[in-house]
Amino acid sequence: CRASLEIQESSSGGANLQVHGVSHTVVGVLGGGQLGRMLCEAASQMAIKVIILDPLEDCPASKLCHYHMVGSYDDSATVEEFAKRCGVLTVEIEHVDAATLEKLEKQGVDCQPKASALRIIQDKYLQKVHFSRHGIPLPKFMQIDDLESAKRAGDLFGYPLMIKSKRLAYDGRGNAVAKSEDEISLAVNALGGYARGLYVEKWTSFVKELSVIVVRGRDNTMLCYPVVETIHRENICHIVKSPANVSWKILKLATDVAQKAVSSLEGAGVFAVELFLTADGQVLLNEVAPRPHNSGHHTIESCLTSQFEQHLRAVVGLPLGDPSMKTPAAIMYNILGEDEGEPGFLLANQLIGRALRIPGASVHWYDKPVIGPSMGIVEARLKSMLREDSKNDQPEAAPRVGII
Ligand code: ATP
Ligand code: MG
Ligand code: MG
Repeated sequence: CRASLEIQESSSGGANLQVHGVSHTVVGVLGGGQLGRMLCEAASQMAIKVIILDPLEDCPASKLCHYHMVGSYDDSATVEEFAKRCGVLTVEIEHVDAATLEKLEKQGVDCQPKASALRIIQDKYLQKVHFSRHGIPLPKFMQIDDLESAKRAGDLFGYPLMIKSKRLAYDGRGNAVAKSEDEISLAVNALGGYARGLYVEKWTSFVKELSVIVVRGRDNTMLCYPVVETIHRENICHIVKSPANVSWKILKLATDVAQKAVSSLEGAGVFAVELFLTADGQVLLNEVAPRPHNSGHHTIESCLTSQFEQHLRAVVGLPLGDPSMKTPAAIMYNILGEDEGEPGFLLANQLIGRALRIPGASVHWYDKPVIGPSMGIVEARLKSMLREDSKNDQPEAAPRVGII
């Protein structure tokens, strides 16, 4: 694999390409999942070389990247070895070894976004403390260390009480809800106990969840994608509607909160800001992801520059692209993956088969953005795809896509 790399190591430890692309910088990505794979797709268009560090030999990005180093992005020595091969180091997942990245930065390795941003974001409690210090509106929160402090939080915030794990959270897997004081211990145990590091958030009865993808270039230029509405199913982002159907005032507020949040973090790249819109018109920050995000997949079809191209442009120092929508409306429908052989697999396959017959729909591995001239038409197209009595839904019509 090394031999096929066509990379020359420079004296500074960075790496330069022998061929000319839009940028000569080799982009090293920690993580080779779905997002890493989509980064590789965008990179291919610009002849930017992406190398991946991921422990899974057949991780989603493995077939599309220029080089895949099989190893853990959590292991210091492995990350250091990987960094030698990159012009810039970035991430497709925030749960990486931030301490190692901080050490590498001191040695001159170029990490974008900065290790400090990853350190703050990967601990959701630290993230909340950080944003509250920067005056970003948030649901009330409090660390809990034992039953006594959890009960105190319940008294303060009321029920239901959202209990969250500080670290290694994704798809709601670090969240548990206690509907009453009696349920605290059950919820805490489900999360692995107080020793895992927990905190609580006041329950926010939002009217909508919104998300804003913000990009910052190396020259500190900052641009925002249109505000989208996200609809979650079992804590997983299931549907994204772009643009969000909210007033101009809310669009402006959401964009301002997102920009302010990202301004408080260091480094270049795409950041996704997840927000709650409350009935009284407040926009509260839920969390930030320091990377492309599933609420931005629709940008591949619907925006002048996709979030993946934008992230690459930002981290290698190219001019940022226009984030505006080129189509009036878009929906991303996420088929929640099932293992082959599970009942859901056939359903996913049928949906993909149907999507291929819908005007304006594109299928991506795991995701289905549908675009159209208005939100009404896009919704109607999606509905026709999901209708159970849809004709022509033979599984053999489906493409060979990986459902994980
Ligand atoms: P992701 O996959 O986005 O990283 P996660 O595991 O980090 O998810 P959160 O974003 O914290 O989880 O929460 C998942 C979902 O749970 C949110 O999108 C929202 O629907 C709901 N939720 C989170 N916090 C609260 C809260 N304080 N009040 C009400 N609902 C909440
Ligand atoms: Mg999260
Ligand atoms: Mg989230």
